[in-house]
Amino acid sequence: MSFSQPIPYGRQQITEADIAAVTDALRADYLTQGPKVAEFEQKFAEYVGAQYAVAVSNGTAALHLCALALHVQPGQRVITTPITFVASANCVRYCGGEVHFADIDPATALIDLQAVRRLLESHPAGHFHGLIPVDFGGLAVDLEAARQLCDEFGLWLLEDSCHAPGGSFRDSAGREQRCGNGQFADLAIFSFHPVKHIATGEGGMITTNRLDLYQELLLLRTHGITRDPDLMERHDGGWYMEMQELGYNYRMPDILCALGVSQLAQAPAGLARRRALAARYDAAFAELPAVRPLAGSPGHAYHLYVVRVADRKGLYDFLRTRQIFAQVHYIPVHTMPYYQGLGWQPGDFPQAEAYYAECLSLPLFPSLTDAEQDYVVASVREFV
Ligand SMILES: *Cc1c(COP(=O)(O)O)cnc(C)c1O
Repeated sequence: MSFSQPIPYGRQQITEADIAAVTDALRADYLTQGPKVAEFEQKFAEYVGAQYAVAVSNGTAALHLCALALHVQPGQRVITTPITFVASANCVRYCGGEVHFADIDPATALIDLQAVRRLLESHPAGHFHGLIPVDFGGLAVDLEAARQLCDEFGLWLLEDSCHAPGGSFRDSAGREQRCGNGQFADLAIFSFHPVKHIATGEGGMITTNRLDLYQELLLLRTHGITRDPDLMERHDGGWYMEMQELGYNYRMPDILCALGVSQLAQAPAGLARRRALAARYDAAFAELPAVRPLAGSPGHAYHLYVVRVADRKGLYDFLRTRQIFAQVHYIPVHTMPYYQGLGWQPGDFPQAEAYYAECLSLPLFPSLTDAEQDYVVASVREFV
């Protein structure tokens, strides 16, 4: 069996409804800051259960604005995971801060909060300023535990939830807590890059329950300019606006927010399909001990389906010969030449490096058919 089209690890799904939504936005009066921005923000906030949402140009811009709103200063130290996309760490560098890492839990590939605690305890009070955990692959970090740790040591908490819109975990009282709902983290960020759950080409979102941070983010997103007379120091007339601090143009255009609204309406169905596909992989690999999937959970959002195999490179190359384009998530951030230039070295985070040697993300996206998935499983089985 084979397929005429190559099978990638992730792929966006654009429907006729999406195309109609964008066409309508193009015919409307606003191309950039129009009604679709507020609509997308409001609906997204509802979807994740947060009070406020701010749409921005992409997930990296979201991280940068969060680092600015949290007042990351040159020399301040912020902890993140080595197993993430580099942007989670880079946002600290944009503000001149120092990136530190804590190793991962090998069962989940999430940052190990015990390792974070050991790091915090081995330094004087006030040494670290913030924590950026990542809901890696779509599995939610235990943010309740992360919040307790941050409160104990005086850190802010920024959740990188690019992989987990719609994901959740159960808190210690048994309540479902959605990723990005702002119950525990000060801020959370999302990306609408085509491989993510909700695709707008480029796009991002910040969610929070903190009004002070929300207002700060609105300013920073548009050059630090306000047009709200209540917030101004003086008021010269109808034309008047005020630049109050150094901000950026990180706006998400109305055209893309229209696509976001339409994509968001399909997100629950996409999430259900991702979970069904993950369950099919789980069942298939239960009989293949050489293939070890990362731990699951009922609230898993399954951006990625990651397995660990001894001969990862061999499997990756073999699948390519079958037109299956699996991917590796991620090359540990601390081993990137840029971060090695800052003093980090291979060997610093053994669990992350051992994970990297064995991990492979298999194709997982809502339009993946059962037959395509069976072909992927058969190919993996043939190799191992
Ligand atoms: C995709 C991603 C980002 C960056 O988002 P962009 O929209 O591509 O800038 C940041 N963090 C994680 C974990 C991501 O997967």
